[in-house]
Amino acid sequence: MKKIITIGEIVVEIMAVETGNGFLSAISLIGPFASGAPAIFIDQAAKLGQPCGIVSAVGNDDFGVLNVERLRNDGADVSAIAVHPTAATGSAFVRYRQDGNRDFIFNIKHSACSAIGLTPQAEALVETADHLHIMGSALFSDGIVAAIHEATRRIKAKGGTISFDPNIRKEMLELPGMREALGHALENTDLFMPSGAEIFLFTQATEEKAAVAELLARGIKAVVIKRGAEGASYFDASGETIAPAFKVEEVDPTGAGDSFGAAFVTCWLRGMAADKALVIANATGARAVGVKGPMEGTSSMAEIEAFLAARNLSGV
Ligand code: ADP
Repeated sequence: MKKIITIGEIVVEIMAVETGNGFLSAISLIGPFASGAPAIFIDQAAKLGQPCGIVSAVGNDDFGVLNVERLRNDGADVSAIAVHPTAATGSAFVRYRQDGNRDFIFNIKHSACSAIGLTPQAEALVETADHLHIMGSALFSDGIVAAIHEATRRIKAKGGTISFDPNIRKEMLELPGMREALGHALENTDLFMPSGAEIFLFTQATEEKAAVAELLARGIKAVVIKRGAEGASYFDASGETIAPAFKVEEVDPTGAGDSFGAAFVTCWLRGMAADKALVIANATGARAVGVKGPMEGTSSMAEIEAFLAARNLSGV
């Protein structure tokens, strides 16, 4: 089986129990939860039984142990997670507003994550990888961008593949070097996985079909557009495959896109047809939004099969 790796942040997430605005007064919080988009992605791939690992860094603290043990127990290769001797594990405080928007306070850039790079252990992991998944949220430091460039070069050189989920928060676009880093990722991408209108950050075209055509003409093999509660679409040279979302109650949307992405990439690497892969990825996303906590709704293949069977859909 092909081995997937990703490079980027591991954090703990601590979330407000009640909706409301900001953190200016004392509120009840729950957590810490294992989190970070790349960590959620790799946890989900591991739970599906795909060989996988992450290049990252945590502090020498309980938040780091919580994350590393979680990923290890779920089957991910944690050998390239460095332990920073002084800086703390990254953290994110989140509070949902009534309208579904979120307030965040992040401590990532100056956390242990600042040390993420191609250590000898990371180089060894890259050596064993067949596929690199790039997440836009991870491109916040020169060290990570350089590590992703080098891993991309090495994996492409041995015939491996790259997927890319821009996963971009608006304020990140203005970071120095961010647009160049996103452009470099796109240039090397085989499978591109934007959310909704995110695709237009990467194209001249302003209409979806034309935007997809533009990307395919630039050498991207396939594009998957995530559409939240509307499901997802897959496009390649032969056209579009549409898959509606499953009807579930949305408890917490954090992690849905990362879980969906991991399921789709896993199915794609296993050579599954796009329509089937979309069903499995939609089921994975639907299960993720049904559970509170960023990584708490990741699924095993048995759980996905049971979810599908309960809807009279045969499994994989
Ligand atoms: P991102 O977080 O990357 O923007 P989405 O919000 O589009 O990603 O969610 C990814 C996938 O998760 C969707 O394509 C869909 O399959 C599933 N999903 C997300 N929200 C819901 C929902 N409310 N109901 C059912 N499935 C959902």
